Amino acid sequence: VITVEDHLGRILAETQALGSETLPLAEAVGRCLTEPVLARNPVPPWTNSAMDGYAVRHEDVAAAGAGDPVGLKVVADIPAGSGRVPDLGPGETARIMTGAPVPPGADTVVPQELTDQGEGVVRIFEAPAAGRHVRHAGEDRETGERIAGSGTVLTPETLASIASAGAGEVTVAVLPRVAVISTGDELVDPGDSLAPGQIPDSNGLLVSLIARESGASVSTDRAGDAPGELGRVIDRHAGESDVLVLTGGVSVGAFDPVKTLFEGGDSVRFDRVAMQPGKPQAFGRIGDAGPLVFGLPGNPVSAWVSFQMFVRPALRKMQGLDALVPDPVPARAGEDWKTPEGRAQVIPVRINDTAAGREVRPAASGGSGSHLIASLAGADGYALVDAAVDAVRAGDRVLTVRLRDPEQFNHQRSRP
Ligand code: AMP
Ligand code: MG
Repeated sequence: VITVEDHLGRILAETQALGSETLPLAEAVGRCLTEPVLARNPVPPWTNSAMDGYAVRHEDVAAAGAGDPVGLKVVADIPAGSGRVPDLGPGETARIMTGAPVPPGADTVVPQELTDQGEGVVRIFEAPAAGRHVRHAGEDRETGERIAGSGTVLTPETLASIASAGAGEVTVAVLPRVAVISTGDELVDPGDSLAPGQIPDSNGLLVSLIARESGASVSTDRAGDAPGELGRVIDRHAGESDVLVLTGGVSVGAFDPVKTLFEGGDSVRFDRVAMQPGKPQAFGRIGDAGPLVFGLPGNPVSAWVSFQMFVRPALRKMQGLDALVPDPVPARAGEDWKTPEGRAQVIPVRINDTAAGREVRPAASGGSGSHLIASLAGADGYALVDAAVDAVRAGDRVLTVRLRDPEQFNHQRSRP
């Protein structure tokens, strides 16, 4: 029997980031930068007007008042996008639109509301403070300043920032290709009517969708319990996958095809991990350079827990992410539940976050039960109970991870 930490350690030691590819910005949301992005141009790229109005030399208008307006000669109109901008001499102004370049010589923009909006000559009724309504080149970022660091997960906001700084593409980690293969003669497609002994293949759906949520591109397949069949299904996927996730068939039953197929070889090892659920685990690689293989137990809650604990960190490492495991949040148990001594428990829970802190209760009324797949729908996350604990009592402290919590990797998140 090995610990959860040891099993995960072996997996991560065998897992490498997959390398990089360059993508247009619009296709890169959610992806992880493998190189820092530096500003190629200042942001803003040139000094421009924050208002529709008149670009002026402040000294020309400093004395303006409502009863004593200053008249300036309008020598140009400068719309946004204007490439040709005149120099302003003393006594001159240019009508200017928001976002248009401020002409050399001008240092201040008078909003049009403070003028008579004249076209040949404009009368200014009030002087804004010197330098007002001018956005300076580089005031947000200078050329060469860092926009986003390596390891940044690209959000729409970050991508817009990168666009503003002059890049049209980014270099990001390649996504892992995952083949999810369910095993079991009893499995049928969701929605198919069930002959005696059959059950819907819920793992294929569950594991492929959470793998996709974890950033992988996913294909799905299924094999019966004849080992030859599993071997053929694996061959179909091995060449174009980085990871194979098999569910079912890893324990010591007479018809456990994953065990039968790999047993005796040295490429995939079978371990008993001190975890509940999810004790039988298989992990290895096909050949020397083939895909990683995870053999997860078939009970759906076991497969789900195993994915969270072992597969997801590996998929994150492949994507170049720094934070591989979530930062668990302490919580109080809202009721008693059973937990095995000597094995870490990972139990689906409902989470109630209140001002007084987080309280959790098992998502399934029976407590832990690796077959209670319908109850998994009620889980907001999972609780982690230490291996040394032999019973959880209401009020005890446990650690928890909320599913899809945007803050769950916060302690390690890299920021620009
Ligand atoms: P196994 O690990 O193959 O012995 O399967 C353990 C339990 O999980 C059995 O009750 C299986 O019927 C069930 N099971 C295995 N694979 C799946 C699957 N893909 N979907 C739902 N249940 C499964
Ligand atoms: Mg089976």
